[in-house]
Amino acid sequence: MVQQIADKRDIDFVIWEQLEGESILKHDSFKEYNRKTCDMIITEARALAIKELLPTLAEGDKQGVRYEDGTVKVPDSFHRVYNLILEGEWNNLTVPPEMGGQGVPFFIGAASAEYFMGANYSLFVYATMGNGTARMIYLYGTPNQKKTYIPNIITSKWGGTMLLTEPQAGSDVGALTTTAVKNPDGTYTLSGNKIFITNGEHDLAENIIHPVLARIEGDPPGTKGISIFIVPKFFVNKDGSLGERNDIVCTGVEEKHGIHASATCSMTLGSKGKCIGYLLGEERQGMKIIFNMINSARMGTGLQALSNASAAYMLAVNYARERIQGKELQNMRDASAPSVPIIKHPDVRRNLLWMKSYVDGMHSFFYYMTMCMTKGIVAETEEERQYCADLFDLLTPVIKDYLAVKGYDVCVQAIQIFGGAGYTKDCPVEQYARDCKITSIFEGTSGIQAMDMLGRKLGRKNGTIYMNLIGEMQKTVAIAKNIEGMKDLSEKVESTVNRLGEVSLQIGKMAMAVDFKVAFAHSLPFLNVIGDTIMAWMLLWRAIVARPKLADGAKKRDFAFYDGQVKTAEFFIRTVLPEVMGRMDAIEAACPAAIEISDDGFGGL
Ligand SMILES: Cc1cc2nc3c(=O)[nH]c(=O)nc-3n(C[C@H](O)[C@H](O)[C@H](O)COP(=O)(O)OP(=O)(O)OC[C@H]3O[C@@H](n4cnc5c(N)ncnc54)[C@H](O)[C@@H]3O)c2cc1C
Repeated sequence: MVQQIADKRDIDFVIWEQLEGESILKHDSFKEYNRKTCDMIITEARALAIKELLPTLAEGDKQGVRYEDGTVKVPDSFHRVYNLILEGEWNNLTVPPEMGGQGVPFFIGAASAEYFMGANYSLFVYATMGNGTARMIYLYGTPNQKKTYIPNIITSKWGGTMLLTEPQAGSDVGALTTTAVKNPDGTYTLSGNKIFITNGEHDLAENIIHPVLARIEGDPPGTKGISIFIVPKFFVNKDGSLGERNDIVCTGVEEKHGIHASATCSMTLGSKGKCIGYLLGEERQGMKIIFNMINSARMGTGLQALSNASAAYMLAVNYARERIQGKELQNMRDASAPSVPIIKHPDVRRNLLWMKSYVDGMHSFFYYMTMCMTKGIVAETEEERQYCADLFDLLTPVIKDYLAVKGYDVCVQAIQIFGGAGYTKDCPVEQYARDCKITSIFEGTSGIQAMDMLGRKLGRKNGTIYMNLIGEMQKTVAIAKNIEGMKDLSEKVESTVNRLGEVSLQIGKMAMAVDFKVAFAHSLPFLNVIGDTIMAWMLLWRAIVARPKLADGAKKRDFAFYDGQVKTAEFFIRTVLPEVMGRMDAIEAACPAAIEISDDGFGGL
């Protein structure tokens, strides 16, 4: 049977062979899990995703969400499958047991989520978005707030959201104008308008708990003056039953390029002057608190893009094996020669291998991040925990944006493999491409991630965290150099890593000098070359795991898989890395034209 959504053999390879996930399972927090139980979880998640979620993907896209007088109806097919997700408790896999979740190791939860997101991102997120809302309440809420909201959000009986964006406050959240006025009973009355709110209103949950960013009257402008409030759609009575409706309403849903089945809502707070919110944490701590949700949402966005890319690649490679078109190159002039599957054509093979190299590299990178995240919590020493947590923090903008951008590129190339069929609505890769595009926009656009990388992350702890990243890459190169047949590839990766170190130093200095604007004009290409170098690192790492297994006489099926690892690394390192080196030269040359050109010089006036 052909693989769908994600190649299970590849996920197994990454988590068990490359990243040695079993070492994480030795920690006390995961004592109920071993490789076998983890494998069962992923296998069942995959079965549910393919059997139940995937068939709703195209229908959800076609039907979309329907706005009717303040309510939003999700596609009809979603209700039954949503309940299946809840019945199987797939909605809170990685939520810690102390919050009511199942405490599954993060890399196992991520592998399951990859299947669910690839099968139907919009549907899965209705069931899981509340986990982030609940986590903020868990970390900053009063005992009463925790008791009132967390249990029902974790079971997804109630939904959760995040309300940041306003028409004039998108990337610049500090420009928000939603206000909060303190009432004598300690609650706050809110008024304002939010836009683009995912799952702001829908008919899958009986209540929705909105964390809302707002400014308390009189507080300073900008992000420093922002507080965060819990605003329930329905008030909750003391006995836990639902009370009256709060004054927060959905005034419409967006018609979008992709993710048609995800409700993107405009929300009005306080049109009757009666929107009541409860302060979460301290006043003016809103940004610090919401970042708990944003950072995990950024990882989730990376996984969303990866799952789309992976699913699109699976479809493309399987189509290329079946679609008969044209003769093999050596038989081009022989009209009687048989026509062959398009996978036989050199250009199609190049394109497939290009896609595979990114999908594989992104897989490894994503699961590497899940390991850093987990080790940042459970590693034995404080030093090791800090080391891993720092790496995770450093790489958050890269995992978010590099995967978003490359994931989309892979989906677009998958359309190319399908030819004319790929451009039609009958073809699922067309939907994956549209659905994937949002990942470089929400949770902070590409430009915002690039600024974060250059302006904040690169120099953190005097650049030592970044140097640790370079050091991790060099460790893999050193191992590769000693493996038979890997010398040439490892030297090429080594040159790239060293070059990245030089370019980083140069752009980092420039970002703090008079030419800082020029540096920021190159910040996104800089984030991209970091991502490209990570791809080379991850693919080399895969190859050094695979190569000895080939030498040890892997079985026929495994042989093709491991050989595929070596060839993929070879392809990326020999054909893509030279381009990356060229882009590093361009960053170092720091062309100032984008800054120097006058506004009128852009034309179009
Ligand atoms: C489908 C969808 C779902 C969403 N879900 C939610 C949600 O649940 N909750 C929520 O609060 N919001 C949500 N959003 C909003 C989303 O986070 C914002 O759209 C996004 O942060 C960008 O803001 P903006 O659209 O106002 O674009 P703008 O901020 O106007 O940006 C426009 C362009 O300018 C660039 N730019 C802006 N400022 C800078 C700068 N200082 N430096 C460099 N470049 C800059 C950006 O990179 C972008 O390319 C959602 C949006 C969509 C489309």
